[in-house]
Amino acid sequence: MKLPRLIPNALRSLFRRPTTRRYPAEVRKPYAGSRGEIVNDASACILCGLCARRCPTSCIEVDKHLCLWVHDPFACVLCGWCAEVCPTDSLTQTEQRPTPRTVRQRTELHPTPPQRPAKPKDA
Ligand code: SF4
Ligand code: SF4
Repeated sequence: MKLPRLIPNALRSLFRRPTTRRYPAEVRKPYAGSRGEIVNDASACILCGLCARRCPTSCIEVDKHLCLWVHDPFACVLCGWCAEVCPTDSLTQTEQRPTPRTVRQRTELHPTPPQRPAKPKDA
């Protein structure tokens, strides 16, 4: 670009609103249907492990014996597949972008697995 054209452009830019947002201080409202954060309602999770088996990035771990459900948001690509396969709908995908973090932190939940029905006593 030649200098005579550059100067008016630079001057105009000084008085224009910025064309980008100061993310994460300014967050844009998500579009309807945006693929956002994964949320697990521990009270409805039965620790079946389907979400962990289907996750393409292996960012979910489920241990039924330890009553543990773990999600690593740093490895999650927000595909939503885990929420689609969850049989109890305890996993949902919101429209909100995940909160930006500087420290790697996993989400750990301790759902209570359903109890097996007691065996009927012999008559
Ligand atoms: S979140 Fe859903 S799919 Fe994953 S272990 Fe719990 S019930 Fe199963
Ligand atoms: S949204 Fe996709 S990548 Fe993220 S936990 Fe679910 S299945 Fe895995």
